[in-house]
Amino acid sequence: MRDWLSHRVAATPDRQALIHAATGDSWTFRELDALVDETAGQLAALGVEAGDHLGVVLTPGIDYVRLIHAATRLGAVLVPLSDRLTADEIGRNVELADVTTLVCGESTESTAVEATTDVPVVSVDDPRWEGVINLSSIAPKRVEPVGWSLSETMLLLFTSGTTGTPKAVRLTMGNLLANAVAGAFRVGVSRDDRWLVTLSLHHMGGIGPILRGPLYGTTVVLREGFDAGGAADDIGKYDVTGVSLVPTMLTRMLDSRGTLSDSLRVVLLGGAPAPDELIERCRNYSVPVHPTYGMTETASQVATATPREAFDDVGTVGRPLYFTDLRVVDEDGTPVEPGTPGELVVSGPTVSPGYYRNPEATADAFSDAGLRTGDIGYRDDDGLLYVLNRKDDRIITGGENVDPGEVAAVLRDHPDVDDATVLGVPDAEWGERVAALVVPADPENPPDDEDLDAFCRERLAGFKCPRLVATADELSRTVSGTVDREAVRERLVAAKPVAEAEP
Ligand code: ATP
Ligand code: MG
Repeated sequence: MRDWLSHRVAATPDRQALIHAATGDSWTFRELDALVDETAGQLAALGVEAGDHLGVVLTPGIDYVRLIHAATRLGAVLVPLSDRLTADEIGRNVELADVTTLVCGESTESTAVEATTDVPVVSVDDPRWEGVINLSSIAPKRVEPVGWSLSETMLLLFTSGTTGTPKAVRLTMGNLLANAVAGAFRVGVSRDDRWLVTLSLHHMGGIGPILRGPLYGTTVVLREGFDAGGAADDIGKYDVTGVSLVPTMLTRMLDSRGTLSDSLRVVLLGGAPAPDELIERCRNYSVPVHPTYGMTETASQVATATPREAFDDVGTVGRPLYFTDLRVVDEDGTPVEPGTPGELVVSGPTVSPGYYRNPEATADAFSDAGLRTGDIGYRDDDGLLYVLNRKDDRIITGGENVDPGEVAAVLRDHPDVDDATVLGVPDAEWGERVAALVVPADPENPPDDEDLDAFCRERLAGFKCPRLVATADELSRTVSGTVDREAVRERLVAAKPVAEAEP
């Protein structure tokens, strides 16, 4: 199998491949292929060859798209690095991922130069620093697309680093192909599809659609970053049919424009739990939301709900994708009954062979039994999956395990509560206490503590009920949409206990 663009250009050269949202410029697959051929030829002239690791630290744009396909054309492993990292962080990742050539652009050049003295630095724009190679000044060499086997590593993608230092995940041609096929089986592909890319290209949510476009023969509409109103407007302007978003983005888009264009067929919503309120808004405004659970280690989606499932069973991420096996297990690895929370273990062809040059972390998470995700969730009687929280967030109070996501879900069901997050705060007697930060539906009329406690006690074992409740106007969130747990913890540590009764 060669790079998917070279197969596509042989099949449907005149279909539209790419639209640059900011300018409206567009390229057919034949035109994009010519650009990619040139980039691959220039990199080859610089000595980049099959097996090399091509690091990219660049803001999203057409040059980035050219590099993605050019790396695969040459048989090189692409290593996308976040353009928000410091020079030190880039330097560490360059070393960790054995990057052999580092590509940058105008806005990332000084960081790239500072990051490494060991590997050549190439810029897609006119370089300002001595020693940086100007890619567009290189006369391209003639290149033949390289053939890949399914087990070869195509991408090294860093995790987000929520639970520690980001790890470089190996994603093979087979992983990416399985993800693309299974994703299409779940949400469908139409020849008129146009997918808006507004997520960072160093995460699967951003780079995935760019890789899949040529495979499906569909159009990518590329934005050079995210702004809520602009992204919402582009959907209407370009008749976009699909988009991948994290919950905070979708919330902001709906806040700024009320609803989204009815050209949309699929809104893949993942990366963090989607607040129930957001799903309700999607229902009210007929936004075709597909709540999704996924991670870098599985080349993105593990499970994706249809809008019907999402609206009927608010909170679910649906069923595993075709090919993917998902088990919910207890601490010993034994599968648990439906309705019981446990760790999610995933196996199938989308699961990475492991972390690059990190045998300890690989051995901890990957085995023949599957990938231990470190996420806690449960399946209902019907097989629908609910993701609660990460294992690391589990609260242990008086020797009992409490999954904060389960408690937060109950609190969110209370009519006077809009949103809630739950975590453990240190407690001399119980080790940890269950604590909750609650966003009242009406800030003037926050729910009564005793009422909340009674509501929880009807639905949860006593030891799971929050002993500390504080209220806030909103939950502070990180850029990827996850609740900023440290900020919440600080507030809760200062809060007063609900009652002095023993848990
Ligand atoms: P690191 O592995 O370095 O700690 P990370 O796990 O945040 O970082 P990613 O691979 O980008 O890195 O994120 C995947 C994780 O995001 C999942 O393991 C899960 O914890 C969380 N996640 C993704 N989708 C959902 C969802 N729909 N609901 C809840 N959590 C989700
Ligand atoms: Mg992770």
